[in-house]
Amino acid sequence: MKLTFLGGTGTVTGSKYLLEHGGRKLMIDCGLFQGLKQLRLRNWEALPVDPSTVDAVVLTHAHLDHSGFLPRFCEGGFSGPVYTSQATRELCGLLLPDSGRLLEEEAEYANRHGFSKHHPALPLYTEEQARRALAALRTVALGQPFEPIPGVQVSLRKAGHLLGAASVHVAWGGRSILFSGDLGRQADLLMFPPDAPTPCDWLVMESTYGDRSHVETDALELLADVINRTAARGGVVVVPSFAVGRAQALMYALHLLREQHRIPDIPVFLNSPMATDATRIYEAHHAEHRLTAEQCEALRRTTRIVTSVDESKRLNTLRMPAVIISASGMASGGRVLHHLKAYAPDRRNSIVFAGYQAAGTRGAAMVAGAETVKIHGQHVPVRAEVACIDSMSAHADRKELLDWAAALPRAPRHVFVTHGEPVAADALRQALEERPGWTCSVPEYRDCVDLDAPA
Ligand SMILES: [Zn+2]
Repeated sequence: MKLTFLGGTGTVTGSKYLLEHGGRKLMIDCGLFQGLKQLRLRNWEALPVDPSTVDAVVLTHAHLDHSGFLPRFCEGGFSGPVYTSQATRELCGLLLPDSGRLLEEEAEYANRHGFSKHHPALPLYTEEQARRALAALRTVALGQPFEPIPGVQVSLRKAGHLLGAASVHVAWGGRSILFSGDLGRQADLLMFPPDAPTPCDWLVMESTYGDRSHVETDALELLADVINRTAARGGVVVVPSFAVGRAQALMYALHLLREQHRIPDIPVFLNSPMATDATRIYEAHHAEHRLTAEQCEALRRTTRIVTSVDESKRLNTLRMPAVIISASGMASGGRVLHHLKAYAPDRRNSIVFAGYQAAGTRGAAMVAGAETVKIHGQHVPVRAEVACIDSMSAHADRKELLDWAAALPRAPRHVFVTHGEPVAADALRQALEERPGWTCSVPEYRDCVDLDAPA
């Protein structure tokens, strides 16, 4: 059996793992490279596998770094089924077309302003192509084994992290391999903790926070502090947030803080049509997260949902303290850019990041203390207070990753540490080699391993 790493190596984006055996091919995740330009360019490179020869794809979850390459893969000739959970399918229904639309807008913008070396600049895929790709999605229940290819047993296990997110266990030709997918936290506000790992011969494990433990200070406390400081200055708190998952956790956190009178009664705006739709999907899948129907209802009551473009523009001229939650989460695009342009230059305001900021994004630059950021071709000074509440991240931290792996009933033959920046991945490799004493490696982009070869 052969395993090829087509992404999620040296970076947290572009996850794509190809398993081949007996002339059949199964791909786990089909993610988009994001962040640094040299990574994004990989989305344009020809894959070492002809998509038309891949039998099936299994998606761990809906985040674009795991699902966002699918439309391009389908355009490239893939015509098989894509298996995933029901919630992931529904969330992909929001995320993929939106991704196509953003890619089209970017290409159009580049053409209008002559930014691109290519004439005309083309989108990686269009909204229409993304909608077509959705037709390939097939849903499977968590914990129910299925056969994407005859003789190959796959089962999805709960991974926490995001609604519908799963680890993927593949049993093929008498051997087994477990893909962790992105793992969630033990005490996430919204999601339940990940299921314990199932026994496997090989483990492909994420390492987003392989080198860091989240500060144990209560995330709600940190959020309350920054809101109170900002309100006292008469400022506005801008929270760039992923529309799916993070936005709902933030709404819930703010609802709790207000109920407990830990923050003043200032308006909370949700300015992201996708977050509004995603909130509905969360409501429809109660059994899969911690919030009851009543709590979901309460969220909607206490958040002002912005629907029109005019309303969105008016948010840039607020003269009183408020919280604005808007996408995207790493400030790489979306409506939040307009809010950052309006509020970043003023010291009274705050910008609060509530999750992982990938290298090369405006979010990472601001968290690292950048004095200006470029938005829509304009240098915008950052004088507002910038905070990053890591512990609001939906990713397990170092200790949680190690605890999850340690729950394996027997040592895997080998662990491939993926989905981390190089330092994080290597730190997790070292830790796993030290404590459980497993053999591990950090694969590189396009590495191909013969799993049957003697170690
Ligand atoms: Zn994810």
